[in-house]
Amino acid sequence: MRLTRYFMPVLRENPAEAQIVSHRLMLRAGMIKQNAAGIYSWLPLGFRVLRRIEAIVHEEQQRAGHIPMLMPTVQPADLWRESGRYDDYGEEMLRITDRQGRDMLYGPTNEEMISDIFRSHVGSYKDLPLTLYHIQWKFRDEMRPRFGVMRGREFYMKDGYNFDLTKEDALHAYNRHLVSYLRTYERMGLQAIPMRADGGPIGGDYTHEFLVLAETGESEVFYDSMVTDLTFGDRDIDYDDVAQCRSILEEFTNLYARTDETHDVAVFEGVPEERRRSARGIEVGQIFYFGTKYSEPMGATVQGPDGKSVPVHMGSHGIGVSRLLGAIIEASHDDKGIIWPEGVTPFHCGIVNLKQGDNDADAACEALYAALTAEGLDPLYDDRDERAGGKFATMDLIGLPWRITVGPRGLKNGVVELTSRRTGESEELTPDEAVKKVAGIYGGHGGTKHVEMMKQRAFHTYI
Ligand code: ATP
Ligand code: MG
Repeated sequence: MRLTRYFMPVLRENPAEAQIVSHRLMLRAGMIKQNAAGIYSWLPLGFRVLRRIEAIVHEEQQRAGHIPMLMPTVQPADLWRESGRYDDYGEEMLRITDRQGRDMLYGPTNEEMISDIFRSHVGSYKDLPLTLYHIQWKFRDEMRPRFGVMRGREFYMKDGYNFDLTKEDALHAYNRHLVSYLRTYERMGLQAIPMRADGGPIGGDYTHEFLVLAETGESEVFYDSMVTDLTFGDRDIDYDDVAQCRSILEEFTNLYARTDETHDVAVFEGVPEERRRSARGIEVGQIFYFGTKYSEPMGATVQGPDGKSVPVHMGSHGIGVSRLLGAIIEASHDDKGIIWPEGVTPFHCGIVNLKQGDNDADAACEALYAALTAEGLDPLYDDRDERAGGKFATMDLIGLPWRITVGPRGLKNGVVELTSRRTGESEELTPDEAVKKVAGIYGGHGGTKHVEMMKQRAFHTYI
């Protein structure tokens, strides 16, 4: 993308309405525009990151064997009357009446609708196990929408639902989700710690929330500092391997880590004092096993091996896709702006032309642009006729992890400059070497092999 042809309305001033850094930086970088309280348009740069996050979620869900689909945003109230949640859900539910006078609602979640789909089409235990998911907009009329996309009213969420014959099978689905979530967040450059949580209105005996530690987080959390040393890394996972998934769950949940709702002072005191931490965290996901809570009232049953009809064991699993943008920025920024992890960056590399209009500099930038594109990467070329200082400030603000700076002086010696946004370190390289280095960085990132990444591009080629 060439900046002169793009739409990236960067703000010079700090917007007064933003209380936390991620909200401020998203507004300043021209990523989002508020349309009403807690309701945002995703401007092109923000939309790109949203799509990259979404692509990782899709890829990791499908790696775990889960099947993508799409349910509507607007749902009939009657489904929710069947589960008993229509009245229970309260003011957070946006209720709508259509022209026929029918009660509808904008979905805050989809347990009822997926149970309805299941009962319409699945009748035998032989069709299990089954996990379906979608990534769709949700609406919750939050009392206090704030912090930008962190607590919106309309927000984008991946929600998945498993259907299993037995509790044991459903607990494997639970463990499988936990494992796939660990991988998902790590690919986004985030440490999200699974913590024992409370079921809330969705209910359930088993539930973990995934928290990113950040001062601006809304949740109070208590943990053993050793949990922050755990990393998932590039493990080979067989998602059908019950023992492997269980042992990873144990590895990541045996140490004390709980939200305030389940915090137990007596147990916490069993952690050596020097390792006890209390902090704040951003909830970026949650997994639940809730057994037959929805399948029973809604008649989501299958015929078991003995011919008897039994309600299926279910769980639901959510990732806050739009909230993740805020969480990633909270975890990765400096005074100058955002620092995108490679896994989610809107463009892989910036190209800054120090002397727009200079034949050699222009030609070198065009050649770099073509070479990076040929490597399967998306560069952002700042081809504006602006001073170098302004171009650097914009690049720092929008946070691309790598920048190639091109100027007549360097070109005389056959070199350009490659700079890391995270460390600020620069090195002089020939244009070819710079392209190879950047391509190599992305090819090896987060366990995603280059070829796999190219396949994944199907998800975001239209941005
Ligand atoms: P919270 O406690 O933050 O209100 P929740 O526990 O009600 O969230 P879930 O039903 O578990 O939310 O939804 C799954 C994920 O969706 C959450 O982990 C969170 O990341 C995201 N999410 C929930 N509410 C919002 C919101 N209002 N704005 C943005 N993301 C949200
Ligand atoms: Mg939750």
